[in-house]
Amino acid sequence: MSQFAVERVRHELKFRVAEVVRNERLTPRMARVTLRHPDFATFPSLAYDDHVKLFFPTPGIALAIPERGPSGLIWPDGAERPEGRDYTPRMFDQARQEVVIDFVLHGDGPATKWAASAKPGDTLGIGGPRGSFVVKGDFDFYLLAGDETALPAIGRRIEELPPGAKVIAFIEIATAAEKQSFDPRANVELHWLDRSAGDPGLVDAVRAATLPGGTGYAFVAGEASASAAIREHLINDRKVDPDLIKAASYWRLGDVDHDDGHAH
Ligand SMILES: Cc1cc2nc3c(=O)[nH]c(=O)nc-3n(C[C@H](O)[C@H](O)[C@H](O)COP(=O)(O)OP(=O)(O)OC[C@H]3O[C@@H](n4cnc5c(N)ncnc54)[C@H](O)[C@@H]3O)c2cc1C
Repeated sequence: MSQFAVERVRHELKFRVAEVVRNERLTPRMARVTLRHPDFATFPSLAYDDHVKLFFPTPGIALAIPERGPSGLIWPDGAERPEGRDYTPRMFDQARQEVVIDFVLHGDGPATKWAASAKPGDTLGIGGPRGSFVVKGDFDFYLLAGDETALPAIGRRIEELPPGAKVIAFIEIATAAEKQSFDPRANVELHWLDRSAGDPGLVDAVRAATLPGGTGYAFVAGEASASAAIREHLINDRKVDPDLIKAASYWRLGDVDHDDGHAH
């Protein structure tokens, strides 16, 4: 493994009202929404797990436009603050001024409801990314583990790693119909964990995994308790250096607009 370093790159905070270009059903429970805005010509996204904050207009009410404050967006007094949720830019194309977001359609919640019915010409607010957590280093292997909400970040990572990189990925999905295909250059060992078929859950699968030798970097994301359990397992049972793990809590069972503690 070559020298490991993490670089935190800050980006100027921006808010745009973007327009839906397309809404495709990638799989039964995943909507792929392509958004366009002239400012996406300079859209900054340096890391596979960057996130933007999406703001969903209430039907019939014009989206309030926030100002930039020293520590985030400031909403105008008296205006209704729209519901906001975090999402990963799965792809972006500066020349076409497009950003693609994959939404898990999990049931209820403003983001899911919006994504299930968004159509070309609809608009939503998009802030960020405010920063990128760039992991540098040529690791012996990359462990990627997550549920459907982590698929955009995991898919992006799988596709951006160079030839010769070794990836072992565990992805928990509701049914086999949620499997996606990727376009990797790296050497990828992919394990789909199908809940409907009674496959082991994410935590058990990672616990039972035979990992390649050498030093790896682990990215774990999804439901809060699963991410925390995998992080604990890697540190306590496999003696992985905590600096070589990024375990993120993307949602928590029963929590509306779960706050994972990261800066917005
Ligand atoms: C940094 C970051 C990046 C993320 N990237 C993505 C992404 O690219 N794509 C994506 O789909 N999600 C992503 N998420 C997760 C997404 O923000 C949450 O799932 C969010 O709660 C969805 O909002 P909602 O309005 O649909 O539901 P909410 O109103 O927040 O929640 C309503 C109910 O649904 C439950 N719930 C929330 N999410 C799920 C789920 N996935 N499965 C089952 N139940 C759920 C909640 O526990 C709650 O009971 C990301 C989260 C973070 C922090």
